[in-house]
Amino acid sequence: MWQHTVKKEISFAGVGLHSGKPVKMVVKPAAANSGIRFKRVDLGKDAIVRASMRRVSDTTLATTLSKNNVFVGTTEHLLAALCGLGIDNVLVELNSDELPIMDGSAGPFAQVLKKNRKAQKARRLMMKIIKEMTFKAGETEINVKPFDGFKITSKVQFDHPVIKSQAYTVQVDQESFVKEIASARTFGFLEQVEYLRANGKALGGSLENAVVIDKDGIVNAEGLRFADEFARHKVLDLVGDLALLGCPLLGHITACRGGHTQHVAFMRMLADNPECWELVKRSDDGHESVMDKVRMATKAAGKMVLPFLMPPVPALHTSKIAC
Ligand SMILES: [Zn+2]
Repeated sequence: MWQHTVKKEISFAGVGLHSGKPVKMVVKPAAANSGIRFKRVDLGKDAIVRASMRRVSDTTLATTLSKNNVFVGTTEHLLAALCGLGIDNVLVELNSDELPIMDGSAGPFAQVLKKNRKAQKARRLMMKIIKEMTFKAGETEINVKPFDGFKITSKVQFDHPVIKSQAYTVQVDQESFVKEIASARTFGFLEQVEYLRANGKALGGSLENAVVIDKDGIVNAEGLRFADEFARHKVLDLVGDLALLGCPLLGHITACRGGHTQHVAFMRMLADNPECWELVKRSDDGHESVMDKVRMATKAAGKMVLPFLMPPVPALHTSKIAC
């Protein structure tokens, strides 16, 4: 299985969901084994932050990455599109501190990116789950077990008649990602949106980029795109956060009432339990080579392409400070 980048530079423009600021973003081709990196062009040539679980600095409302006071917010939907479409290496340039929210889903990214994939002459490394592991925190449970593919089951539960409980399972590949997951939008409750606005968040939020729910039902005139759009969007967010591992995962994840904070904590637990996974490469005929983790960790040092190989993973901060 070959690594992929994009054929050409692809531009997007929009507003940040929380900042409300206009932003221009360009997804550019990048060399094999360079991973996904964000560059803040408004801050100079060195303002680069890698898409890595080691760079997560805030998970309060979205997944924010930072390094040396260079912040890149709401990364998860673009990362989901890249991960869902099997695009390993790109440089993402943006001129603000938050990615454009587009329509609240990964659909606008996925529609363009799927036509612009380009194979590279380097085999893709994959994290293959070989032993079951369960992360628990409060009401959240995230389990992963061996599976020959990338499969996600998402379970959501809200005390609201529109959502109640929903469960959705999908084997994620390029086709299913585009058809079943990418267009599921982010969602919020009206009273929560009003509170966020009063506190300087969700300033770019509107019915154009989020499903809003009040006590009577869906506020958006067009209704839902899928009856289980909420559970599908949770799959989207999880796919995006898992991109911060730095390589695709082979396994079946079941996530119950998860969010960005728990996704990152789950990845840290995986990093701390190397007996649950091995690193593999596959040839086109399906032949699998198992890589030497210790050797790979030495090779990865300094590059941080495989952040889970580099213990100790820094503690997660819940406020916006550099890691
Ligand atoms: Zn989301």
